Amino acid sequence: MQGQGVVKGYAIGRVAIMSAAALEVAHYRIAPEDVQTECERLKNALSTASVELQAMAGALPDDAPRELGPLLTVHSLLLEDPMLFQQTCELILTRHYNAEWALTTQGQLLAEQFAIMEDEYLRERSADIRQVIERVLRVLSGSTALLPEIEAGDSSDPLIVVARDISPADMLRLRGARFAGFLTDLGGPTSHTAIVARSMNVPAVVGLGHIRMLVRDGDTLIADGFTGAVLINPSPLVLQEYRRRQAVYASERAELALLRDAPAITLDGIQIKLEANIELPEEAVAAMQAGADGIGLFRSEFLFMGRRDLPTEDEQYEAYSSVVKTMAGRPVTIRTLDLGADKTLDGDVTVATNPALGLRAIRYCLANPEIFATQLRALLRASVHGHVRILIPMISHMHEVHATRLAIDAACRDLDASGVPYERNISLGAMVEIPAMAIAIEPFAETLDFLSIGTNDLIQYTLAIDRGDSEVADLYDPMHPAVLRLIAHTINAAERAGIPVAVCGEIAGDSRVTRMLLGLGLKEFSMHPQQLLDVKKEVRQAHSNALRVKVASALNRAERIDLEALSG
Ligand code: PEP
Ligand code: MG
Repeated sequence: MQGQGVVKGYAIGRVAIMSAAALEVAHYRIAPEDVQTECERLKNALSTASVELQAMAGALPDDAPRELGPLLTVHSLLLEDPMLFQQTCELILTRHYNAEWALTTQGQLLAEQFAIMEDEYLRERSADIRQVIERVLRVLSGSTALLPEIEAGDSSDPLIVVARDISPADMLRLRGARFAGFLTDLGGPTSHTAIVARSMNVPAVVGLGHIRMLVRDGDTLIADGFTGAVLINPSPLVLQEYRRRQAVYASERAELALLRDAPAITLDGIQIKLEANIELPEEAVAAMQAGADGIGLFRSEFLFMGRRDLPTEDEQYEAYSSVVKTMAGRPVTIRTLDLGADKTLDGDVTVATNPALGLRAIRYCLANPEIFATQLRALLRASVHGHVRILIPMISHMHEVHATRLAIDAACRDLDASGVPYERNISLGAMVEIPAMAIAIEPFAETLDFLSIGTNDLIQYTLAIDRGDSEVADLYDPMHPAVLRLIAHTINAAERAGIPVAVCGEIAGDSRVTRMLLGLGLKEFSMHPQQLLDVKKEVRQAHSNALRVKVASALNRAERIDLEALSG
């Protein structure tokens, strides 16, 4: 079967099917004289389930993912909604349904109402409704077992949980035991199953459709968290092959983990900085765990997305400070709001003729001075807790840099006026992601404190390929000599001006091109925390100066660089 792999790794084990109470409840009508008692039974079950959820939210283990607490609270609030009780009770009183039947009927109705809502956030709540209803059904049935007791037999294979969906509360219960993997019929990469499985580092495949109906307890399964493939009762030969892959992957991970505290130095002694890209404050923890030298890109726009109002100055200050504190003195590069194109505010209905070339990023901020000033004040305030650097996206003109400096000066004056402390010599840098800036980079390199090359956009604008359009995805080519010349030109100009320059686009985390980037003279890479150790491994095996000679000669001739020829 094919699903979506959401946590990497290979799981090999035996099926343990998680009960889906909603699929198994008995439907029967009750005698008219018993309807009141049945309503009472329902009321008690709702309140027991709600109390259980609150208790769980209040006693979360320290290592539980942060999302769990709020999710459990939302679930208990759903159960306390008087409408849920009244309307379900109505079905018992008028149609004489038993409580389980009434509850599944009402739950289905509610889930359907949510499922057709326009707002994506509300649409996603239909999964929550289904999950809380399941929980009450379990209370009504008096059974608390989530998983069957599987005969140990002569097999010591670990168990793979197979479920229709796994609620946050169920996940919490499953955390205690060791499972080899999680497979669900429903869900996507941001589902609860995915979030919790990731925090437990257990391979997971979601969106499998109907695996729960197709397997039985004790069946042997292989789940490939890389490709999303699931093999049911595979032949001994296939099993042997996957056990081999599993062992290779485990030893690769173990070897990489040893690199966490090893320095990122090339064979010829060049020190390389490896930093992390993050989108939410809590991801700073993963950056520290991976041994990052700092945050090279904090995409602050994610604090603004998926909500109806703008985050306040205090809210932003809290978010930035928490990252700065977590990074304990290491540099934290916070990019000012990069909205527009593929990232928009909820409820923003303006449709630009061509959003990628429209009022996005710094253009948007300069056109909305209040929003910009609020963010700058929050950034400056956070700077007292460590080392903050401000990064401006989508710069193409020098006057945008000057306007940004003026905005920062104004924010400083605001803070001075109210006696709020901040770091006076905060570094200001810009993303190099528009070809015009890369071509005419010199004055920028002389004016700014640092540069960061955003190859994701630089490639899109250089090659005229929409980065989100699958029709032209095959032409989106990071190795195009024109793109590499722009990167090389930017790195050389920064070197001459004596300022640091990083690459923070996706190619910085692709270990297949690490040597090529070293050959371009790059000394700072910023990437997803999970990619850091793979890149470090490449760095430590590379000879930077030899690579520079090879890459320069290919670029002079505008030839494609042969990655194979750079390795070894
Ligand atoms: C980039 O453009 O390379 C970049 C890092 O920024 P984003 O992907 O957020 O546009
Ligand atoms: Mg960009």
